[in-house]
Amino acid sequence: MPATAMGGQITPQYHELPAQEVAKTLNSDTEKGLITAEINKRIEQFGKNELKGKPGKPAWLRFLLQFNQALLYILLVAGIIKALLGSWTNAAVIWGVTLINAIIGFVQESKAEGAIAALAKAVSTEAMVIRNGQKSRISSQEIVPGDVVLLTSGDKVPADLRLLNTRNLQVDESALTGESVPVEKSTQPVGSDTPLAERVNMAYAGSFVTFGQGSGLVVGTGSSTEMGRISQSLETGSSLSTPLTRKFDKFSQKLLYVILGLATLTFAVGLGQGRSWVEMFEAAVALAVSAIPEGLPAVVTVTMAIGVNRMARRHAIIRKLPAVETLGGATVICSDKTGTLTENQMTVQAIYAGGQNFSVSGTGYSPEGEILFEQQPVDLETGNFPSLKACIMAGLLCTDSHLEQKDGNWTVVGDPTEGALIAVANKVGWNQSQMAELTPRIDGIPFESQFQYMATLHDRSQSTAQTGNGAKTLYVKGSVEAITSRCQQMFNADGQPEPINHELVAQQVQAMAEQGLRVLAFAQKTVADNQNSVEHDDIDTGLIFLGLQGMIDPPRPEVIAAVRACKTAGIQVKMITGDHITTAKAIAERIGLERDGKVQAFEGRQLTEMDDPELAQAVEAGVIFARVAPDQKLRLVEALQSKGEIVAMTGDGVNDAPALRQADIGVAMGGAGTDVAREAADMLLTDDNFASIEAAVEEGRTVYQNLQKAIAFILPVNGGESMTILISALFARDLPILSLQVLWLNMVNSVTMTVPLAFEPKSDRVMKQAPRNPREPLLSGTLLQRIVAVSVFNWILIFGMFEWARQSTGDINLARTMAIQALVAARIVYLLSISQLGNAIFRKISGKAAEISDFPAIAIGILCTVVLQVIFSQWSLMNNLFATAPLNLNQWLICLIPTLPMLPVALFVNRIDPVE
Ligand code: ADP
Ligand code: MG
Repeated sequence: MPATAMGGQITPQYHELPAQEVAKTLNSDTEKGLITAEINKRIEQFGKNELKGKPGKPAWLRFLLQFNQALLYILLVAGIIKALLGSWTNAAVIWGVTLINAIIGFVQESKAEGAIAALAKAVSTEAMVIRNGQKSRISSQEIVPGDVVLLTSGDKVPADLRLLNTRNLQVDESALTGESVPVEKSTQPVGSDTPLAERVNMAYAGSFVTFGQGSGLVVGTGSSTEMGRISQSLETGSSLSTPLTRKFDKFSQKLLYVILGLATLTFAVGLGQGRSWVEMFEAAVALAVSAIPEGLPAVVTVTMAIGVNRMARRHAIIRKLPAVETLGGATVICSDKTGTLTENQMTVQAIYAGGQNFSVSGTGYSPEGEILFEQQPVDLETGNFPSLKACIMAGLLCTDSHLEQKDGNWTVVGDPTEGALIAVANKVGWNQSQMAELTPRIDGIPFESQFQYMATLHDRSQSTAQTGNGAKTLYVKGSVEAITSRCQQMFNADGQPEPINHELVAQQVQAMAEQGLRVLAFAQKTVADNQNSVEHDDIDTGLIFLGLQGMIDPPRPEVIAAVRACKTAGIQVKMITGDHITTAKAIAERIGLERDGKVQAFEGRQLTEMDDPELAQAVEAGVIFARVAPDQKLRLVEALQSKGEIVAMTGDGVNDAPALRQADIGVAMGGAGTDVAREAADMLLTDDNFASIEAAVEEGRTVYQNLQKAIAFILPVNGGESMTILISALFARDLPILSLQVLWLNMVNSVTMTVPLAFEPKSDRVMKQAPRNPREPLLSGTLLQRIVAVSVFNWILIFGMFEWARQSTGDINLARTMAIQALVAARIVYLLSISQLGNAIFRKISGKAAEISDFPAIAIGILCTVVLQVIFSQWSLMNNLFATAPLNLNQWLICLIPTLPMLPVALFVNRIDPVE
């Protein structure tokens, strides 16, 4: 395979060359990266780092595909036969209506697809690069060849890289090579003909870092990456198909066979009765057309698209459309604690060091505040608190974050837990960058949930603020369990090592955790002067315990209401956290997670010992799962699903991806999450807030409810029409409605009246019901009863009005028109009865205030319907096209009569099948 061409000329393949030589070819610096002037030039030259992909299907093809439905074939053929029989107007109207239908479908589908694609694009990935000798975070799109990119676990590789440094770097290249086992990377050159999957010194765009860290030089961006080459043959573009739409498709398919059967029967019976071929053909076509809910697909698409939009407005971005429906059926939400249920605004309030307890004043990350010992401020310059100093020093040095002052507010860049520790050090007057200069960091192991600790190696030869001997010191911080189990000694108040008293430390931890504090433990270790790197083995023994720092992380206030809403809605909320069980419990009590009055909690290690049935029990009963390792989340999801639950699960780490994929709704954090988690998720939260999950569930339920309303509204008209035509044809009576008129009713009238249902706002009651049964069919028993009842009413109405008008006026066109107008009038009443507008009017009558203007969509729909119906019968052009006749005032009034019996029927069906 030829290497990427730089500026037109072919260069050697990057994997064969030593890294430095690659840097030279690309005119870059492996230490300092590119300089600004060069970056600007290269952006011009290479363009944005993004994949264009092959564009989706062209517009004309998508438009033609609108006709690719069995029903429309029937219509087109019917049109042709009509034309052959010489009824040119008839043919033209059939084709015209089909065309309008296709245009509506096309416009709506394009809009929905566009909206969803735009949402997906709005979530851009970022990358850490070195430019002008400094680390900075930029949007992945701005990366150019020659950039130095830093990789850490959870990142998506943003461009093709020749690796410069690796540290246990493992990369999942399955998107490129299909190999699902992550590949261990290194930096040594490999032979020129090494296949892609074995080029261990390269990291390719689109793969994911699953472990370790590394850095690499960008050798290809955008479409000149290996991924770019493949994805040009892949089709991009989002799909609008979901389980529900597929159910609809299957349903219409079945319906079609039934209809074709009935139509053939009608045709045959009619011919047998000796009636004309033309007449029976008209009846068969009318029957076929009447039974199919042509307006429904458009309504489904619009409803989904509106749901997606509403969710986005409430901070939930849908990545996979089926999630819109699944959300509405969620029965359990498993949420992270830190940052999702809590604010992620950490402030250290308590310190335990050298056997002494200190408290800390101040809020947020600002350096204002003091450390107090026995109520007196502590001065570290004059006071003698060697252990306290060491404990704070560990928190300041062993970190990957820093604080920044923005518009007078102190904010943390990086991990809030670490920000809180830096803030404490600032309170005693220590400055992070000065200290880092004085005590330079040589190496480190970053924090990962899996290990629950972080370690850094420092050279302290120039530092005075030291405890212990030796110049090279390891600082370690992490969860209490991870740290104390590795410590044999602890410092006493004078800074002298003595054997660690585990019981005493555990008591202190318990006391802090019971107040809901998040507790971190600190330790240090002096290492040989020639040691220049740190591995996990180095911290397994010989650490000296320095102390504890406890920080508050208050619950988000809106979460309390959201949890309550979930409970009323029959949805369980469970907290899954890596944090300490006691801390988790304290927070859970504050946000009201208890179930049946108690907060049952399990620890990760208890879960490990359970077999599957035990786990399924525990997972149902428990509300807290503490010290859970990411890979246990998958088991939790599966256990819940084995109990028939529909599970939403949050996650942000690289190891959360399997659980996110397994969950019915995987939820990733837009802010804090890793690229791996985001890619695996069905939904992203832009504010990382639990309350947004609850909001999305609310919208999901509304979508489902509105779809059911649409079905409940559309199908009875099809039912009424087809009964009318079938019965009249079999009894050799004149058809009360013609096929063209049926087309008008099913396409024009149904769409105008049903699309507004997609805009129905969420009802107050939507979160007061239990989640819907996932196995419940689309057409539930009660919905079916409703449809049959209203269908029969519609049949009586059409048939009765037609026969009566026919006899009293003798004008068949007028009789047909009156039957249709009466049907539509009754339909308006029925629409009101299932919409919230009707509800509002009703409430107004019974005294409670609700404004019609709160429901503009339905009101507009009804207004348009009235205008269209008046045109339909009063305009001579329409009379010619649809064989209608103008009505006089009296006749109009007569058409309104059936609205009266419609009212009790509507109330009755609302009782057997409540729509809210
Ligand atoms: P969660 O996000 O559910 O609180 P984490 O996996 O982030 O859980 O953290 C688990 C534990 O690891 C925490 O209770 C804390 O003791 C420790 N910890 C968290 N962040 C850090 C960090 N940056 N450095 C060291 N230890 C940490
Ligand atoms: Mg965390």
